[in-house]
Amino acid sequence: MTYEMVIGLETHVELSTKSKIFCSCTTAFGGAPNTHCCPICTGQPGSLPVLNKSVVQYAVTAGLALNCRINRHSVMARKHYVYPDLPKAYQISQYELPLCEGGWVELSGGKRINLTRIHIEEDAGKLVHQGSAVFVDYNRGGVPLIEIVSEPDFRSAEEATEYLEKLQTILRAVGVSDCRMQEGSMRCDVNISLRPKGETAFGVRAEIKNLNSFTSVAAAIEHEFKRQEEILSSGGVVVQETRHFDADTGETTNLRGKENADDYRYFPDPDIIPVILPYDVLEQLESSLPELPDKKLARYVSQLGVPEADARMLTKYRAVSDYFEKASAGVQNPKTVATFMVTQMFGVIQTEAEREHWSPSVTAEQLGELTRLLESDKISRNLAKRVFSQMLETGKPATAFITEEDMAGFDASALKALCQKAIDDNPKSVDDYKAGKEKAIKALVGAVMRESKGRANALAAEEELKKLIIG
Ligand SMILES: [Zn+2]
Repeated sequence: MTYEMVIGLETHVELSTKSKIFCSCTTAFGGAPNTHCCPICTGQPGSLPVLNKSVVQYAVTAGLALNCRINRHSVMARKHYVYPDLPKAYQISQYELPLCEGGWVELSGGKRINLTRIHIEEDAGKLVHQGSAVFVDYNRGGVPLIEIVSEPDFRSAEEATEYLEKLQTILRAVGVSDCRMQEGSMRCDVNISLRPKGETAFGVRAEIKNLNSFTSVAAAIEHEFKRQEEILSSGGVVVQETRHFDADTGETTNLRGKENADDYRYFPDPDIIPVILPYDVLEQLESSLPELPDKKLARYVSQLGVPEADARMLTKYRAVSDYFEKASAGVQNPKTVATFMVTQMFGVIQTEAEREHWSPSVTAEQLGELTRLLESDKISRNLAKRVFSQMLETGKPATAFITEEDMAGFDASALKALCQKAIDDNPKSVDDYKAGKEKAIKALVGAVMRESKGRANALAAEEELKKLIIG
């Protein structure tokens, strides 16, 4: 029997607001234990949470960017469970009336992954194990999160990882989160079940909690598929449970039995009034939404003539696309700027973190200047490439590396003189070309390039040579 996997994802994303969801404590990463918290973060008796307006705005922005319906009336709810990272024994989240519902993310092949909802909630504290002792650090308690719940629309690990990458790109572009999986500002729970291919009913699912890298998500899905396939094909029954993925062994293990929503005894939080979103605020958030990565990608390809693979790299980070657009201002062919960035800059600026921050030694204006020099035929492509790598190394402008000799003498008449010299010096190649040997022209172009020390434009030289020979 062949089985297919059915996967739904719950993704927790930390919002980049300066203060926490219900108090004015900082959301800054790190800090000595229990220094970024107050009685509200830890739910002390008598403390009263007040909902941070920016959290609602950030979450609505995320919802708009992901095509959701925004509920102008939503309610905060208490989700009860007992665990030392949450001293008040309930998490303030949303249940029946979340902020956003519906929505979708489109994968590159055109398949849409539908979203069920996006709700806001608080993060819990962190347990720190030291030998046989366990300490609790509440610095993260009350850090604002959105939980993005998808429909069970995924059928492979590849679809799941592409979706997460897309989420990351979109949420970074609209500025609501840095989505750093390694720092925990984006983490993911995977719900996975198997069913015989062709079947429409769902099988029993297992949930794998707290995956914090794309590779872990893919590996956990692959492992879980094999595990459940073995159980089913030997006539066994998959039990509903929560599992833990161990990145070192690549295996999932039982964590606990799966809770249902009933177990949490959700009810509206009596301390927080319902969230009413004024229409003009919603309208203002909608109109201030920046151009989204997919739209930007399409525009780069169709209007700017950038190859799709390059456009993908340029639109992955907002700082990179901002830089590209600034450098392209006033150049004839933005594709040239894209080529410099992808072939040379991305070779130097390699890590994800570096690309996210994108603070190269060469300014956008300096790259624009170099491109214009190339486009006006003042320098050759070879020279431009060489100069650009020197610029990247030193942060100096193009003019620091281009001598007057480089710039001089490559107008049309100088090129023509060089071509004529190549023709006079290489009669055999000229005869070969005349006799129909197309390749012979390359020898003449080579002669021009040598004579000009690589500064001539090879394409222009070839055209000029043909003109001179054929007349
Ligand atoms: Zn606090």
